[in-house]
Amino acid sequence: MNRLTGKVALVTGAARGIGAAIARAFVAEGARVLLTDIDNARGAQTAQALGERAAYRRLDVREPSDWDAAMAALLNDWQRLDVLVNNAGITGFEGGAAAHDPEHATLEDWRAVHRTNLDGVFLGCRAAIRAMRAQGSGSIINLSSRSGQVGVAGAAAYASSKAAVRNHSKTVALYCAEQGLAIRCNSIHPGAILTPMWDALLGDGPEREARMRDFVWDTPLRRFGRPEEVAAVAVLLASDEAAYMTGSELTVDGGLLAGSPASPRG
Ligand code: NDP
Repeated sequence: MNRLTGKVALVTGAARGIGAAIARAFVAEGARVLLTDIDNARGAQTAQALGERAAYRRLDVREPSDWDAAMAALLNDWQRLDVLVNNAGITGFEGGAAAHDPEHATLEDWRAVHRTNLDGVFLGCRAAIRAMRAQGSGSIINLSSRSGQVGVAGAAAYASSKAAVRNHSKTVALYCAEQGLAIRCNSIHPGAILTPMWDALLGDGPEREARMRDFVWDTPLRRFGRPEEVAAVAVLLASDEAAYMTGSELTVDGGLLAGSPASPRG
């Protein structure tokens, strides 16, 4: 359990879900981790449970000044940044059942999703390159989605923002390589990972189990994934084992994108 010993990481949206699982796995592998989020109470609680190699700080990924302040504090306290995980993301459905299809979505909702999912990743990558340049190496891990690789009829902004994250990750990878920096940038593409993000879609009534079965019907492994199963891939990308990986995309989706809905159902 020492694949990340000596490394310093910052994880966004780390109060719960996939971000919390990544922070937990990084600490278990020996890293020091700054957990960040906009949910201060939960973020502080999650960090405290991880012990002395974890700390919490508020960072709204949409705000350039929050990025500046978080990076300054991190470099002051821990002197370096080795790994940034741009994990914070929203679907746009958090506030209720507003339409997100390409015909009915509002411009405000479209922009709000892009502001968190895309602007947040842009700002994070920019801050990380600037911080990592001093040591000339590092790993940037961007949480895209399987929805960044295919269209989603009812979630236009989410799919668009995640596709842009996938592409921006490659641009960052190429730019850093061009600059002669060993700063790698890769994207992870989860699909159907059971976290609180799904609560708005699944509800919590007696229908929840049936809805869960419906959602994973087309997934070859026929189940939701666990946040820890995404965290394991983030550990690999953060570690020196992945030194020759940059600009790549890794799906963690139970096989969903390996086939096509046109395949006969078994
Ligand atoms: P969750 O909703 O469970 O957790 C996301 C966390 O990010 C929350 O703590 C949330 O805080 C925080 N957050 C939201 N907006 C901001 C912001 N502006 N700045 C900082 N933090 C913010 O999501 P998941 O763990 O499920 O998802 C993590 C990432 O993985 C996301 O990028 C998501 O799109 C991606 N992903 C997830 C999949 C899944 O099936 N779960 C599938 C594909 C991709 P608050 O609760 O206060 O809003």
